[in-house]
Amino acid sequence: MQGYIHSIESLAAVDGEGVRCAVFLSGCPLRCVYCHNPDTWQHGGTPTEGEALVKKVARFKPYFGDRGGITFSGGEPLIQASFIASVVPLLRKESISYILDTSGAVPLSEDVKAAVNGASSVLLDLKFPDEESYQKYTHSSIKLPLSFLAYLEQVGKPAVIRTVIVPGINDSEEWLDRYLAVLSNYSCVTKYELLGFHCLGFHKYEKLGVANPLIHTSAMDPERLSVLQEYVNAKKEANE
Ligand code: SF4
Repeated sequence: MQGYIHSIESLAAVDGEGVRCAVFLSGCPLRCVYCHNPDTWQHGGTPTEGEALVKKVARFKPYFGDRGGITFSGGEPLIQASFIASVVPLLRKESISYILDTSGAVPLSEDVKAAVNGASSVLLDLKFPDEESYQKYTHSSIKLPLSFLAYLEQVGKPAVIRTVIVPGINDSEEWLDRYLAVLSNYSCVTKYELLGFHCLGFHKYEKLGVANPLIHTSAMDPERLSVLQEYVNAKKEANE
């Protein structure tokens, strides 16, 4: 079966634990205002057979060690869940583990469940904490990500939750309390990480001729981000 690949970043030290090979799949149903990868939104990309992908990533196996492996990212990787599900047995044969970096904003199909079940863990972006803000800033409903999170809870899949913090939108303790209230219902959540908004993708909007809704927004101040991260860490510890 073919998947559509936007790009592959070998030996990325981000997007999951250990040394990883990030496979960015094309297409995304969301339109987050802070997106720094608008070039991944459209379906398309390089058609690639599962066997060819696994052959390619298997070259990096010696670098993965105990904790590394593949990260399926995007775009939204799970809109190509049938492709990922078809690759799972091939990766297993090579003893390569993978994690999913997803918004969870996809219907819970059997292929999505298979992709989740085969993953060693999930990085789930909780973009906004309620229907109104989710709609406003992603142009989609929070219902699908919440069902996705409920599925992770049901099958006991470890989940690292991530939220992009944007100056002037959700960079306050009050906002974080709203996110934490959602997450308090899920014991599968192993960690809650805040990521700072940055402007590194601005040139892509310009190149694509797409309006950038945050063109006048500055990057998140790292010091303020640390303060907010400490705030959620303390709150999470107090509730455990
Ligand atoms: S889910 Fe990711 S790729 Fe899709 S619009 Fe949001 S930030 Fe961009």
